[in-house]
Amino acid sequence: MVLPMALSLSVAVLLLGAGLFLLWSARGKRRQTGVPMGRVVYDDTGAWQECPRPLYSRRYLLAGKPDYIVAQDENLIPVEVKPRRTAARPHLSDVLQLAAYCLLIEDNFDRAPPYGILKYATATFPVEYTPQLRRQLLVTMESMRDDLDTAEVAPSHNHPGRCRACGYREHCRVRLD
Ligand code: SF4
Repeated sequence: MVLPMALSLSVAVLLLGAGLFLLWSARGKRRQTGVPMGRVVYDDTGAWQECPRPLYSRRYLLAGKPDYIVAQDENLIPVEVKPRRTAARPHLSDVLQLAAYCLLIEDNFDRAPPYGILKYATATFPVEYTPQLRRQLLVTMESMRDDLDTAEVAPSHNHPGRCRACGYREHCRVRLD
């Protein structure tokens, strides 16, 4: 069937409009989540599954899944989204969590990400995956493994309020209140 010229033109304009809207809303979603431009190859909602999940490293006895992994050129960039966190600087625990994803990507895909991204409610932080951060992660993992063999471990913080809100407080012998 041959469409009249005016109708074909209207259909083409409509399709172009729909395409532009989809592109615009995808960019908006990326801006909201802090996902950098690049091809999203994996997210833990299951919409993209080009890499196994969770990622596992036998060498480092580590498993985990970032919210997203974005392919940028030859790099795979992990993105961790903390939608309720507001802070002027990234928390060390979040930085180490992101570093662990970098290590998992390094071990699974044989290429270390140059950085990862932490997205809080109010800010987005690119976190460089430096040799120092990698070392700090390995030392922290080692000390956590040591703690697993210890009967009683001191709290990692000094906030009684945090203990009051903790689901383990009834069973915790080192709680702070
Ligand atoms: S109650 Fe115990 S486990 Fe919970 S936050 Fe406090 S120290 Fe940590």
